Amino acid sequence: TQRYEPFRKVLYTPHPVVQSKGPAEVEELKAELGCTVTGAAPPCPIQSFMHANFSDRLVRAILQDGFEAPTVIQSCSLPAAMSGRDVIGMAPTGSGKTLSFLWPMLIHIFDQRKLSPGEGPVGLVLAPTRELAEQIYRNARRYIKCFGDGRGSAVAVFGGAGKWEMAQALKSGADIVVATPGRLMELIRSKATNLRRTTMVVLDEADRLLALGFEHQIRSLMDNIRPDRQVLLFSAAFSSRVEMLVGALM
Ligand code: ADP
Ligand code: MG
Repeated sequence: TQRYEPFRKVLYTPHPVVQSKGPAEVEELKAELGCTVTGAAPPCPIQSFMHANFSDRLVRAILQDGFEAPTVIQSCSLPAAMSGRDVIGMAPTGSGKTLSFLWPMLIHIFDQRKLSPGEGPVGLVLAPTRELAEQIYRNARRYIKCFGDGRGSAVAVFGGAGKWEMAQALKSGADIVVATPGRLMELIRSKATNLRRTTMVVLDEADRLLALGFEHQIRSLMDNIRPDRQVLLFSAAFSSRVEMLVGALM
């Protein structure tokens, strides 16, 4: 059996304001937010970035970007993701799902030791299209600057142009890889990268990933990732196929 380096999943302590809420208050808050949170003892949603346990630097960047408070999906999924839980996040398009997973992913990555030469990403985001991958990548680049001291890099890989350049970028080291599944498979086969350091995986727009026929590739990629990884799945729609994928991966 393969031995894996230990890593930390729990990177969140609820703020005293959040911790002091009783069960009735938590229910009231969820009703107010209009969200449903299920699972074993889910953490309480947060209503402020000040309660997210984020560094001052990250909070400043978020406020600078004009975001005053977490969106509903962010309120619910940030504490769960940072507590090391696998998360299924369901919310409509435009509700802020990208940062629901990117901020926890960055915290997760910077809790770990730096990449050594030849090591692949700690955080992997799978997205259905080039456009989406590029958008997530831009967000990752924006917020990666709020961590570490210049360390940390993101690479986007997708079908179409520039396979050689993508391979070079991967080889020079990427803490986060945002990818469409098919192209990532090719690049792994050609040894441009590998998933041996990967400890957090996001499936973004899971319904579209499945609709575009990526299920088999997602499963093969996941077979290359250590079994105790953290998985976050986001989707605008839930379906029995998404449910089956969840059952297979979480
Ligand atoms: P989704 O993936 O749910 O479709 P996105 O993550 O693409 O949504 O976010 C939609 C828009 O909302 C983006 O322009 C993003 O910058 C913005 N946004 C994200 N979080 C917040 C927030 N907390 N407050 C205000 N706007 C936000
Ligand atoms: Mg999205």
